[in-house]
Amino acid sequence: MGFRYGGTAWDGQKWSASMAIRALGEEIDGVTPRPKGTDGTVASKGHDSASPTSDHTPKPAVGTGIVRAIDFSVTTEQGYAIAERIRQLADPRCKYLIHNRRMFSSYPVDGIEPFVWRYYGGSNEHISHVHVSVHDDADDDGSPWGIVAQEQPVAGIMTVSSWAEAAFDKAVEADIVSETHREQAQDPVTLERMLVFLDRAGVLDVRNLNDKYDGPGSQSVTGTFVGTIT
Ligand SMILES: [Zn+2]
Repeated sequence: MGFRYGGTAWDGQKWSASMAIRALGEEIDGVTPRPKGTDGTVASKGHDSASPTSDHTPKPAVGTGIVRAIDFSVTTEQGYAIAERIRQLADPRCKYLIHNRRMFSSYPVDGIEPFVWRYYGGSNEHISHVHVSVHDDADDDGSPWGIVAQEQPVAGIMTVSSWAEAAFDKAVEADIVSETHREQAQDPVTLERMLVFLDRAGVLDVRNLNDKYDGPGSQSVTGTFVGTIT
């Protein structure tokens, strides 16, 4: 069964999904194979009692309510790839996204710019699914999101490698590290140490860097990572 885009909620209220949610769900359906266990749009009774103000709850509460959120199940790799793709698209319909203890919003929060990853401390870590909420002015906008329209769709995991490259450029430029140090920082452990070092040296502003890697010898670092090169 695919996503539900309308019908009757658990309490009998009529609801329909925002067209932006429908367009997103239809694109996510094109990602195969994909786990489906936590797929959902409209809130269940349990969801409503746990999170009564959720965008999964049809609003307004009287008449036909609109659901402006979707949860789609993902493998870890799919989650990183799709969530990052949605972040990069910065679609004006996107209100916020949550995945694997990270989130971004379409508005600044605590000095963190729109569409920049930040830590998510909610009780549900969103490891097995991605949550997307959309703005209420996008109810009639069912245009494509373009998530899987790129040439290399849904592959790989979030990596800080390219970001670190830019940081190292800055550091070499500022004479904080030598080219040799830079070349040595190719394995994940050294990379992480170097990032912390650069943070202390004031070249980077590193927040939420997890020391969790996707395997020995890999150059990609997974986890929540928010940083700016100063
Ligand atoms: Zn959700």
